[in-house]
Amino acid sequence: MARLLVGKPVAQKIQEEIKKEIKMLLSRPVLVSIMVGDNASALAYINAQKKVAQDLGIEYQLHKLGTETKETTLIETIKKLNTDHSVNGIIVQMPLPVQIDYKKISQFIHPQKDVEGINPLNMGKIVFGQAEILPCTAAAVMELLNQTDIDLYGKEVVVVGHSEIVGKPLALLLLDKFATITVCHIATSEAGRLEDHVKSADVLVVAVGKANLIKGDWIKEGAVVIDVGINRVGEKIVGDVEFEEAERRASYITPVPAGVGPLTVTMLMRNLLRATKLQQNDL
Ligand code: NDP
Repeated sequence: MARLLVGKPVAQKIQEEIKKEIKMLLSRPVLVSIMVGDNASALAYINAQKKVAQDLGIEYQLHKLGTETKETTLIETIKKLNTDHSVNGIIVQMPLPVQIDYKKISQFIHPQKDVEGINPLNMGKIVFGQAEILPCTAAAVMELLNQTDIDLYGKEVVVVGHSEIVGKPLALLLLDKFATITVCHIATSEAGRLEDHVKSADVLVVAVGKANLIKGDWIKEGAVVIDVGINRVGEKIVGDVEFEEAERRASYITPVPAGVGPLTVTMLMRNLLRATKLQQNDL
């Protein structure tokens, strides 16, 4: 039976370290969160961020813009925040209305204020193994893997999902640990090859957003399973992996929603601390 990789205790430990370091800064860090339009899930995420920020001594400012906001207006808002010395971090909440292209927007957030690690410069630094600011979910997965006794060197690691914020940066971070990486995506499934790849994984990370995509009996005995997926099924929140059967076969597994989720906001705050230090030439 697998050991559970639970996010909260790891998050609490990292938050204690962040809190100590924040007390040593010249001033209290300020995080500006921009929300365009109204969205219940974005609001829930904002409230979670606000609470952690408050606990850590971070000032959290919410800027709300109307649903009809033009892309150029959002870019102007970001540019103003980039040059405002009282602001240390900028986050643009998802989802955005259809007239706004998130990939375009990510280029305008100053790399030293980009607390989500989505600016192309920060993404590019991952390739060189020199990133100070990492995409939050990918960083959360790496922290959870640190909690296991697995040495990634030479291991078969399978990442399912190749999004810009999770799968792609994660594959590069794992490559830096000398794991052998296979990245699966929609075409892997369509070619009927997903099961074979998953069965070969010493470490499996799944970030797709499809309940029960990964069958429990595909999990290799003793594998480490990190399930990033969040899916609502009736009243329940579940991941992308069939949990009960996978738990019987794995050595470690993340429960959903208590695994990766609680760490993501903590990674955002750690990025804010790093961003603030970069701005103060202290990193
Ligand atoms: P995206 O929708 O951006 O990416 C999903 C990925 O899964 C894509 O690469 C897609 O490939 C791939 N995919 C879709 N269908 C299949 C399939 N049948 N077989 C294999 N691959 C498939 O999602 P995100 O990366 O943003 O998020 C993924 C999941 O993680 C979601 O459930 C999200 O809610 C959750 N999440 C959880 C977080 C946490 O803190 N726990 C934080 C962020 C996300 P293609 O594009 O080629 O179709």
